[in-house]
Amino acid sequence: MKVATWRGEAEFTIDEVPMPELEPGLAIVKVDSAGVCGTDVHVTQGLFTEWDPPMVLGHEFSGVIVEIGEGVPRGRIGEEVACLPQPGCGECGACRAWTIGHCERLPRRAEGFAEYALVDQNAAYPLPEGLDLETAAMAEPAGCALSCVDSLGRQEEGFDALVIGAGMLGLFTVAFLKLRGAGRVIASEPNPIRREMARQFGADIVHDPSESTVDEIVDELTSGTGVQVAAEAVGKPELVAKCIELARPRGHALMVGVSPRRSPLPVDLFEMHFREVSVRGAMGVGNSFSPALNLLPQIDMDGVVGGRYPLEEIAAVIEMSAKGQGVKFMMAPND
Ligand SMILES: [Zn+2]
Ligand SMILES: [Zn+2]
Repeated sequence: MKVATWRGEAEFTIDEVPMPELEPGLAIVKVDSAGVCGTDVHVTQGLFTEWDPPMVLGHEFSGVIVEIGEGVPRGRIGEEVACLPQPGCGECGACRAWTIGHCERLPRRAEGFAEYALVDQNAAYPLPEGLDLETAAMAEPAGCALSCVDSLGRQEEGFDALVIGAGMLGLFTVAFLKLRGAGRVIASEPNPIRREMARQFGADIVHDPSESTVDEIVDELTSGTGVQVAAEAVGKPELVAKCIELARPRGHALMVGVSPRRSPLPVDLFEMHFREVSVRGAMGVGNSFSPALNLLPQIDMDGVVGGRYPLEEIAAVIEMSAKGQGVKFMMAPND
């Protein structure tokens, strides 16, 4: 079978490798769609130094089960599934006390930039009614945003919220804030196409930071009080600080974006303490993969995917993503 191997920096090769070997409890999935994500961009830019090439990337994928190992029900052959990339063992202390994202044992990494992928049968989730395979491949980024939003706990119905950044994670944050009871959601984003998409995902007000400051729009909307939830979905420390500034007393700043390693938070701690603002957030998909997958049919995802590409195009597609063109690109290894 064919895989796209990451060779370090922005270099990929297309390689012919043997089919994965089945073990008890595992299944082979014929990959339908594998999303290119900010993480893939960051990896090729050297942001995650612990990732060691050569390796196959692609952690957001869906497909059809074509072969099963011992102990997997025969009826699952032919099933359309969305795959959780790092399922965790579900048994260790970290898995039980926190989320599977912090598993102490070495998690199996599934790889979607390949014609076939080996997955744990418990990490292959059947699609909810009415969801297509391509959309289902976005359950992982959706789960990352949902894990963040649900870290807030219950908020009073109709709360005001701000989301800075309307890339894939910002858009899902908008959608899940609405589904979790937000009243007015402001989305702030410089790219007009993404602003339009934010409206489609449920933003009530869209803001162009080149026209006015985000402070102005929040002050205007809340008569200077601030929003209950201010989410940062870009990954810039100064914007996380801005979210803390724009949260109302007893409000929350929500960290959705991934800031660079070792970045300090440039914030006035006196102000933060005085207004009793807390910072929430979540790392990765945690335990929210399946809940997010099942909420996807409630979100209007029309036009989110900007294109489907063969594995050979991977380097170019990652470069397009890095430039912020489009919202989501899909690798389609078997089209
Ligand atoms: Zn991702
Ligand atoms: Zn574990």
